[in-house]
Amino acid sequence: MSKILHRSIYAKLPIAVGGRGIELFDADGKAYIDASGGAAVSCIGHGHPDVLAALHAQLDKLAYAHTGFFTTEVAERLADRLVADSPDGIDYVYFVSGGSEAIEAALKMARQYFVERGESRRRHVIARRQSYHGNTLGALAVGGNEWRRAKFKPLLIETHHIAPCYAYRDRSDAESELEYGDRVAYELEAKILELGPHGVIAFVAETVVGATAGAVPPVKGYFRKVREICDRYGVLLILDEVMCGMGRTGTLHAFEQEGIVPDIMSVAKGLGGGYQPIGAVLFGRHIYNAFSSGSGFFQHGHTYMGHPMAAAAALAVQNVIREERLLDNVMRMGELLNRRLRERFDSHNHVGDVRGRGLFRAIEIVAERSNKAPFDPAQKLNAVVKREALARGLMVYPMGGTIDGARGDHVLLAPPFTVNAGQVDTIVERLGDALDAALSKSGSP
Ligand code: PMP
Repeated sequence: MSKILHRSIYAKLPIAVGGRGIELFDADGKAYIDASGGAAVSCIGHGHPDVLAALHAQLDKLAYAHTGFFTTEVAERLADRLVADSPDGIDYVYFVSGGSEAIEAALKMARQYFVERGESRRRHVIARRQSYHGNTLGALAVGGNEWRRAKFKPLLIETHHIAPCYAYRDRSDAESELEYGDRVAYELEAKILELGPHGVIAFVAETVVGATAGAVPPVKGYFRKVREICDRYGVLLILDEVMCGMGRTGTLHAFEQEGIVPDIMSVAKGLGGGYQPIGAVLFGRHIYNAFSSGSGFFQHGHTYMGHPMAAAAALAVQNVIREERLLDNVMRMGELLNRRLRERFDSHNHVGDVRGRGLFRAIEIVAERSNKAPFDPAQKLNAVVKREALARGLMVYPMGGTIDGARGDHVLLAPPFTVNAGQVDTIVERLGDALDAALSKSGSP
């Protein structure tokens, strides 16, 4: 019996013993195509020799130095690189060890920014109902997934949730995409006005929604409106790109495709590509200046922030992405993946939507295409799809029962940026077979 408390106490998990390229291997020698990059983490695949060499070299030099005493060359180089590769307005970096930590730091940074400026009465955070920002208490409070929050509600700070931007389900036939985007963006303005414009700290959103809904991109213009509204009331815009960022949608940051820049953003997963745990908060000069002209420090910190091994892994991963021109491949293979998914599922009785950007794609599973009715969440169809896919040597990331269990099941794909055309074909073929097997086991072929 395992002494680890796994995600599900009763799960019989295969034992992973190795990984090469886009495949993982279990103790029985079975190979799995990692079409989800774990949870959109393994962006350059497994066992890349350059990253292994960088890690060995860093370990020989220095494994750890506490940030209360030292900075390190490798963390400085990574920060320089992240800022240089980001658009104007992203000027500084704060390192942490993962996505939830990045969101916690972003929230505290936003609050302290206003305290430094003498606006201590700003205390409200607005976020969206369909969102996931992490499992620590602050991040969980901001997230909109009722199922994840329910057991812990008494411990959560008050957060105000507005509608997500989810055109497939929420745009009415009578409105254009632009009108729909404006309508949901104005929910933000209404909420700011309701709370009192001088009481709001920040609006937090995933640029492209990940785990709760499956690669849902915003409609064109939505984030421009959001940015305008935040500026009008002096509210900070925090974008959570823990899942959709660091090249996953084809640009380093997903927000670059929206023509805006956030005040603060979080990244993690693809930053270190799974080789080490690392996350970061990236932010603008105005935030830094408020700290430097105020109390002179950000009142936060963790023991392992800026860890040299994590920084070395992230720097090596980002070098591989640049040297192997992998963002071009994300665009090319992302288009191919979209085309193959459409060929396979556009006329499938139980696939309502195929969506996403770059190598961040999803299908939404419905009981009935015409009215988009979801399957009964009690069927746990997404779990059956995952099982059937694993049986076929395919890792995908299915989720279901998003808002109060009412919005259905989806399957997220986030393969490594190194994926090739033949592998894209195999992924879609195995996913199609897994979905059909899951549906026929659930009595809905
Ligand atoms: N934000 C987003 C958008 C995420 O997808 C996740 C993880 N799925 C997190 C935050 C939390 O990251 P972590 O699991 O590294 O704490």
